[in-house]
Amino acid sequence: MGLCRAFADPRRLTEPKASAFADPRRLKPAARLGIARDQGNQHHRRHPRRVDERDSQTNGEDCCMKIIRRPTVYLVGRQQLDEGQIQQFLDDHGVSNWTTDASTAGDELPEFAGRLCYMSFAKPRPGGNKTYLGHIKEVGHGSVLEHAVWNFIFTGVSRSFTHELVRHRAGFGYSQLSQRYVDESVADFVEPDCIADDPKLHEVWQSAVQHAQEAYIKLVDGLQAKFSDIEQKTQRRKMARQAARSVLPNATETKIFVTANARALRHFVELRCSEHAETEIRMVAAQVLEILQREAPNIFNDYAFAELPDGTRAASTPHGKV
Ligand SMILES: Cc1cc2nc3c(=O)[nH]c(=O)nc-3n(C[C@H](O)[C@H](O)[C@H](O)COP(=O)(O)OP(=O)(O)OC[C@H]3O[C@@H](n4cnc5c(N)ncnc54)[C@H](O)[C@@H]3O)c2cc1C
Repeated sequence: MGLCRAFADPRRLTEPKASAFADPRRLKPAARLGIARDQGNQHHRRHPRRVDERDSQTNGEDCCMKIIRRPTVYLVGRQQLDEGQIQQFLDDHGVSNWTTDASTAGDELPEFAGRLCYMSFAKPRPGGNKTYLGHIKEVGHGSVLEHAVWNFIFTGVSRSFTHELVRHRAGFGYSQLSQRYVDESVADFVEPDCIADDPKLHEVWQSAVQHAQEAYIKLVDGLQAKFSDIEQKTQRRKMARQAARSVLPNATETKIFVTANARALRHFVELRCSEHAETEIRMVAAQVLEILQREAPNIFNDYAFAELPDGTRAASTPHGKV
């Protein structure tokens, strides 16, 4: 797997990064001041970093910055059933005996919604929830899959990743870290494996990112001085940051809260876990699919993972765009 190769590089694991980027004490005075002045704001409260498995998937880390090589996907919310209300509905409609073998709310709700369309609670065909949802996927009755919804947070992802992600409009909701309100002078950066694994290319990348961040810090300083007639500090900082961020690279780490339904997530996984998708979004899509195959096994069981020649994973399904 690419993951193993990436972290097998002993230089990444043992050698401290010889760069101003990795050590705020080496930044030029203005940049250092820029960081010091903002201490105590929301972004700095992240430190000291929690040392856990996720941090082991990084390199170039010190007290203030790190280079990130792997995204983290948190499942923070899932569908919940109100069994009492479901039974009440069944009782009210003379089909009290209906039951399902669905093991999760994510699998049960679309079956329930589909059965409501034809009021087919009384005499379900054999095969249970798995067969029912399999049929839904075959005939493309995908709207019932919109009733199962999950909430995720993606972190350790780049701005280029989120730009691709938010192109998925139907059935998705987003809340993303603001570069107008949040100080990016201590931002982390996401480095693609194919660059990180090559020492020469890594140096080029690191130098570019470092210079961009130094420019950002100088611009925030300069713009705050320029806007010194604006009394309100928050407004002044926002105006400085919103202009200064124009020099930040696509690699800048961001965080995004994502809510989506099963139908939309199937389409996302189909496009973004495909072998043709970009590597970073494919890594996220693969993690999302793994989670969803646990959360709603009968909705997502038709996706099969395969290992690509470069050791990364892709997934595909015979039931495209339900
Ligand atoms: C490998 C790959 C390469 C790509 N390269 C590029 C690129 O070079 N440039 C670029 O700009 N984008 C690119 N994209 C993004 C792509 O064009 C889509 O914007 C993205 O995949 C979201 O797909 P979607 O519009 O189907 O999703 P959603 O917006 O979630 O829509 C889902 C479905 O709902 C329906 N729908 C949604 N909105 C409308 C609407 N307004 N009218 C009618 N039907 C609608 C469509 O059936 C659509 O497929 C790429 C995507 C992939 C996977």
